[in-house]
Amino acid sequence: MSRFHQALAERQPDPAGRRWLFVPYDQLSDEIGPLSREDPGHLGIVVVENPWMAARRPYHKQKLALILSNLRHFALEQAVRGVSIRYAVAAGPYRTALEPLIPELGPLRLMEPAERELRADLAPLVASGGLIMIPHEGWLTTPEDFRTSQRSDPPWRMDAFYRHARRRTGILMHDAKPVGGKFSFDPANRLSWGGDPPAPTPPDFVPDPITEEVAALVESVFGRHPGRLNLTALPATRTDAESLWSWAKRECLPAFGPFEDAMSLRSSGLFHTRISAVLNLHRLLPARAVGDAAAMDLPLPSKEGFIRQILGWREFVHHVHAATDGFRLLPGRVPPIAERPGDGGYSRWTGKSWSEGLSETAGSRQVAAGSDRTAEGAGHPDGGPMPSALSASAPLPPAYWGTPSALACLDHVVTDLWTEGYSHHITRLMVLANLATLLDVSPRELTDWFWAAYTDAYDWVVEPNVLGMGTYAVGDLMTTKPYVAGAAYIARMSDYCGTCGFDPKTTCPITRLYWAFLARHEARLQGNARLRLPLQSLRKRARALREIDSRTFQRVRDALAAGRALSPDVPAPAHPRKVRSGTD
Ligand SMILES: Cc1cc2nc3c(=O)[nH]c(=O)nc-3n(C[C@H](O)[C@H](O)[C@H](O)COP(=O)(O)OP(=O)(O)OC[C@H]3O[C@@H](n4cnc5c(N)ncnc54)[C@H](O)[C@@H]3O)c2cc1C
Ligand code: SF4
Repeated sequence: MSRFHQALAERQPDPAGRRWLFVPYDQLSDEIGPLSREDPGHLGIVVVENPWMAARRPYHKQKLALILSNLRHFALEQAVRGVSIRYAVAAGPYRTALEPLIPELGPLRLMEPAERELRADLAPLVASGGLIMIPHEGWLTTPEDFRTSQRSDPPWRMDAFYRHARRRTGILMHDAKPVGGKFSFDPANRLSWGGDPPAPTPPDFVPDPITEEVAALVESVFGRHPGRLNLTALPATRTDAESLWSWAKRECLPAFGPFEDAMSLRSSGLFHTRISAVLNLHRLLPARAVGDAAAMDLPLPSKEGFIRQILGWREFVHHVHAATDGFRLLPGRVPPIAERPGDGGYSRWTGKSWSEGLSETAGSRQVAAGSDRTAEGAGHPDGGPMPSALSASAPLPPAYWGTPSALACLDHVVTDLWTEGYSHHITRLMVLANLATLLDVSPRELTDWFWAAYTDAYDWVVEPNVLGMGTYAVGDLMTTKPYVAGAAYIARMSDYCGTCGFDPKTTCPITRLYWAFLARHEARLQGNARLRLPLQSLRKRARALREIDSRTFQRVRDALAAGRALSPDVPAPAHPRKVRSGTD
């Protein structure tokens, strides 16, 4: 018997006479829902570990360990509270693990899952009455808030939603007016970072035997997954989530605002809080993060900037995902749906099919002795919608999996990511998504890559951020323009260029990719008010330069697709107008 099952058996309260809930992997809190208000002595929870799901995409090992370790610790924490635990291991969709339990335990309540994938998986059990869906109490806003703040049809805008959410919740409001006189202090938050104040060092966690056992399991069962395990960077318990949040409040929030858009070789996170992974699992509640920040004595641009990320962006992307049924219902078009979950180009990179090893990994290994196991179920989920407003369909270059490209910005962010399973927002938007968009990479493939690589990625948050914001795959549905930029932006906001073989003012190909992108998509982007000036500049650009732009695009695309590093052999003298950064 595993240490975890032994520990659970030692703490397990008597299961008799309980009302049972199903608690999905990303609702690990007893501060919301029935667990927060009903007597633990009368409650039982079904917790399902799902190696089949873990093997469907080449998830970063750190992500697998994060989810599994938190799931197991949550089960133990609840057992200590007196909640009875039914711990199951699924070898197929979640419903295959839950269905056999319902005749014995009775209908199970659950808070509506955040992930569409899980909602689709469980739909037959909801329809049959075996599962009773209740509202998810982790969100700060309702679908009604979203509808009230927007026109009924897209485009939908975060700033209108955020203003509504501030007014409705009263957060950072005084006498019905925004504190400080403005809803957003974003223009004050655009400094680059030169080392002062020093960037905080992320906290270390001490792995306990349960986490160590999870790590051994991940290495043995999911050994072919990419990424590196680092247990000292893994918040696994409720106490760990608390100490991460205490660190974030103390070390990050005071300087959060001004350096929000900065990027640095010296710190993958700078003053970003790194809480997204625990927030999305509900180890830390969004309401708590926002409430604590609102109550803190902080410079207003930092306080407002941080609150906007959670009350604004996080809630907004969730509503957009839900309102479009995960981008399957788009105005005037129905995007094609991928047949099966994509691997983000991992098979091409490794030369081995990802799906071939799937059933072996998921079905045949003994994952957790002493638990309920279920047979592999039917009903594989699809691979999600494939919208592409710019008809982008190129494969994701191997550089995203770690093959050096010689573009220092890209290589640096990719190295950080495969080491940590994390990088901050601007690196995701203005390096990873920017470059993929400039190369006409398939937005679906890029989404699948983000989903696999980041420890905080789930469909409701990764799809809007990549399809909606990062790549403009759904046009202006939720953003006003594609977030693309040349080297001038990266040089201004980071210290990457100092270590690069390219010069951002002369040889950097990213600037030429930018012009080539505008030229290729000019017809589609015409009429976009926020691109009026860049498109005017494009039209004034000499024909000879435009030809070099186009050749550079082909050369870079072909070299990166073949996994070859670039060399600074073609000068790129002109660079684009200053482009406004990231998000609002
Ligand atoms: C291309 C792309 C892909 C992304 N994929 C994900 C993802 O898979 N999962 C994810 O949680 N976030 C994603 N984001 C949003 C954002 O980059 C991360 O939430 C943030 O970087 C997490 O780091 P942090 O906790 O240090 O954030 P901080 O900068 O400290 O911000 C605090 C919190 O605000 C929330 N937040 C900020 N921006 C967003 C946003 N755009 N959408 C949702 N929440 C936001 C997060 O919960 C974050 O923890 C993505 C952004 C882009 C551009
Ligand atoms: S010079 Fe260009 S490729 Fe090199 S780090 Fe700067 S922006 Fe990136």
